[in-house]
Amino acid sequence: MSTLLNETHHPALRSWLASAQTPGGDFPIQNLPFAVFRRQGSDEAFRGGVALGDQIVDLAALARTGLVTGEAAAALQAGAQDRLNALMALGPTAWSALRLALSRLLREGAAGADTVATCLVPQAQAEFTVPARIGDYTDFYTSVHHATNIGKQFRPDNPLLPNYKWVPIGYHGRASSIGVSGQRFHRPVGQTLPPGATEPVFGPCRRLDIELELGVFLGQGNELGEPIAMDDAEQHVFGLCLLNDWSARDIQAWEYQPLGPFLSKNFATTISPWIVTLDALAPYRTGFERPAGDPQPLAYLDSAANRQEGAFDIQLDVGLQTPAMRSAGLAPASICRTSYRHAYWTLAQMVTHHTVNGCNLQPGDLLGSGTLSGPTLDQAGALIELTQGGKQPVTLPQGEQRVYLEDGDSVVLRGWCEKAGAARIGFGACEGSILPARTL
Ligand code: MN
Repeated sequence: MSTLLNETHHPALRSWLASAQTPGGDFPIQNLPFAVFRRQGSDEAFRGGVALGDQIVDLAALARTGLVTGEAAAALQAGAQDRLNALMALGPTAWSALRLALSRLLREGAAGADTVATCLVPQAQAEFTVPARIGDYTDFYTSVHHATNIGKQFRPDNPLLPNYKWVPIGYHGRASSIGVSGQRFHRPVGQTLPPGATEPVFGPCRRLDIELELGVFLGQGNELGEPIAMDDAEQHVFGLCLLNDWSARDIQAWEYQPLGPFLSKNFATTISPWIVTLDALAPYRTGFERPAGDPQPLAYLDSAANRQEGAFDIQLDVGLQTPAMRSAGLAPASICRTSYRHAYWTLAQMVTHHTVNGCNLQPGDLLGSGTLSGPTLDQAGALIELTQGGKQPVTLPQGEQRVYLEDGDSVVLRGWCEKAGAARIGFGACEGSILPARTL
């Protein structure tokens, strides 16, 4: 499953588009993430695009130039559609061929650069949509730190349930309410049990929270009844996006036993428009290991490649902006910084476990990583952890405080990878904001 480094990753590679070289930018020529877009306010068809600097390479326009040939041309045609499912279904050889063709067309000195330049659309003039028809969405629970922090609030003496270190925990989520960055939704209403009460009340959620996650878009699926082995698992992963699994904690606390989350999670889930491919993330692979004394994964969840490089070092940040901050022109304030490398289960383990019983995954299916909290509380990816269940408010730049989200608040997730000897790449932004509850 190893993704080898190749000429598309070379840190010295430069594009003829100057903004691709912006220091600290998310979209250098080594990244080349995919989205689905059109010009804002237009009635154009949505189509696939690839980010470069502050521009989007319009894949439909590029396909019409005839500059891309061979296997990459078939991938380009698939990527020009109004959703990326067809491209996802083609598999990693096709994805890599398209990446190489794009890299060669977009680098300094490329033949055809003048023609490719006519296929650019400024990101600032684009609107995005959910990049695939998501047939099914499954949310995992892969951060042991999140599971422990949450468990402590409910079971101080026994925070981590005994299955956690053996089985990748997940539940089947809701695909229809997944939206792209910029999503606005009404504060959910529902049943909650007030502290000390014996009967529930019906009304607006009072403990509206975030969950900092990564989304995993599946590529080629598997036949019903045919599991995907660890050594093949990453061949089925198209790429990663940012994901905010908004959560109504008070509704969740009342409804979640015995079958798990339901209306506390399915009112909205926001993802970033850009999907960063596993190819692009190859320089940021890292080893997967278990702390001494923890059980090793069962054989079906273990592989040499997974141990050697099955984890990814992706930096993650959560920013919160209140209406008062917005009025004062203040940028979102960071309330959490962490890395994906702290996850207890890897991408490959999620895919293999999901299919071990014969469950079939399909192109465009989405997996959530679960809240990606790191080992310390300032690395916690949800307010319920950052505020210790509401006991320690988060203080923002103008002295405002938050326990949970209030109406008008906006949350922006960011992710990026950075290290010496490799190009910095990023995920762009995943932003969403809260409208008041509907009048009952
Ligand atoms: Mn979640």
